Amino acid sequence: MAARRGTSGHKYVFVVGGVMSGVGKGIATASIGKILSARGFSVNLVKIDPYLNVDAGTMNPTEHGEVFVLDSGLETDQDMGNYERFLNRDLGNEDYMTSGMVYQSVIQRERNLEYQGHFVEAIPHVRDEIVDRLKKSAEIGKTDITVVEIGGTIGDFQNALYIEAARLLHMRHPDDVMFVMVSYLPVPSTIGEMKTRPTQHAVRELNSYGVQPDVIIARSTHQLDKKRKEKLAIWCNVEPDHIISAPDVESIYDVPLNFERDKLSEILLTDLNLAGKQEPDLAAWKEFATKAHNGKKTAKIGIVGKYFDTGDFVLSDAYLSVIEAIKFSAYANDAKPEITWINAKEIQNGDLPVDSLKEYDGIIVPGGFGETGIEGKIMAIKFARENKIPYFGLCYGMQLMTVEYARHVVGLKDANTTEINPDTPHPIIAILPEQIEKLKNKDYGGTMRLGAYPCDLAGGSIAADAYGTNSVSERHRHRYEVNPEYVKQLEEAGLVFSGRSPDGILMEIAELPRDVHPFMLGTQFHPELRARPLAPHPLFDAFIKAALDT
Ligand code: GLN
Repeated sequence: MAARRGTSGHKYVFVVGGVMSGVGKGIATASIGKILSARGFSVNLVKIDPYLNVDAGTMNPTEHGEVFVLDSGLETDQDMGNYERFLNRDLGNEDYMTSGMVYQSVIQRERNLEYQGHFVEAIPHVRDEIVDRLKKSAEIGKTDITVVEIGGTIGDFQNALYIEAARLLHMRHPDDVMFVMVSYLPVPSTIGEMKTRPTQHAVRELNSYGVQPDVIIARSTHQLDKKRKEKLAIWCNVEPDHIISAPDVESIYDVPLNFERDKLSEILLTDLNLAGKQEPDLAAWKEFATKAHNGKKTAKIGIVGKYFDTGDFVLSDAYLSVIEAIKFSAYANDAKPEITWINAKEIQNGDLPVDSLKEYDGIIVPGGFGETGIEGKIMAIKFARENKIPYFGLCYGMQLMTVEYARHVVGLKDANTTEINPDTPHPIIAILPEQIEKLKNKDYGGTMRLGAYPCDLAGGSIAADAYGTNSVSERHRHRYEVNPEYVKQLEEAGLVFSGRSPDGILMEIAELPRDVHPFMLGTQFHPELRARPLAPHPLFDAFIKAALDT
């Protein structure tokens, strides 16, 4: 069969999940991308989310984690943030797909009579749309290898079509397509022994799709021993050296280094007939990853937010990029961050006295929407301002910093954002004009001011000095803005708008002068989305430096 020996020229590594979710498939995918690019290959990473949402923008962050916005404005899953951070480059729309997107394209084509009267079916039409999207991602990125993470776990009803698309690619180009299964090996406390059986079952399930994994990444609390490696090899039909031990780690940035200890890049490249480009160059990464363990100082950072209650558990995924951005700047300053989650509702209702915030070296109010805990956040901001605790406001945190200033310094009692009180006598933060119609028509999906926009910086400001330039581009996700009608009054009272859109209309950064406060700065954009391990964000750097100084 000629097709079986065909080669597409382009290589694909599909990463699928076995046994259960939440064991680090995203980090494994990002790490595979990292180690392959460290061998001199050009790699793109693709995330497939099998749900019917067209993008991640309409989902509740408490349930689904952070919405990660690309330069283009596409609202994606938080894994895309890890991909960008590990690869140290921007990703594009073609590197992300949801079932919502895939079906929407097929249905639109059907409406346009492009299927010439035929039935339109999951197979072949939806499957082929998936393959076309993968090819487009490779073409646009001009890459050698595409690493694709298929969301969900083997056996899910929802991701079967994606596995089928991958099987087809493998059938047509067996030398160019590999499968990696990230599986979980439990160590039940009652027996204290690592169990391989669930992984054996997961592999059999994958086999029933016509797919055989080439590599198994064995996630567990412990290292995989020789005995279990051999057992897995026999029962799962995988070479013993193709089974990679992936025990829990203190820092996710150690994962690529651990993979290389088991020679994963060598294995993948050999099997893909790509061996020999260069030895892995992970020196800069290693230096960064080591710093994660060696911080001499501690930066105690309080994050005042609301997206963390899930039953009895505290979930910090909604603020993932913020946490990572703090880490990168702390490590760069020889410090370890100690992050505390502060529930704004508890400050608001008095369960947590606001002056308990004095124990932090720095306070952040991150992005958010709606009313919950708003007054608690404003109380925290006031406390940071009055007590000269370094403060960094991200999006909502900048808007509320401006409201706080209007209320307590300018003296505009009841000042507010119209998101909370449309009838406020002082709408300091007001809806962007182009958003009014959208909200009226319930046109919520993908319609905020999204993605990268330029911002001009005022010379001599904290922001301009931190960036070391007078113009930057940063990513946005908001519907409201500082009301231009109040800008003059706020400035006269001492607030400095040090970053503006090039036409001067939108206030992108607010700050207090250095002689008034050591660091009180808010951004309408989300700087955390641009922070990278090997390129920490200048504003997070300035904030962490101020926190360590005070
Ligand atoms: N809710 C605010 C707005 O829509 C802030 C959004 C955010 O923090 N991302 O403008």
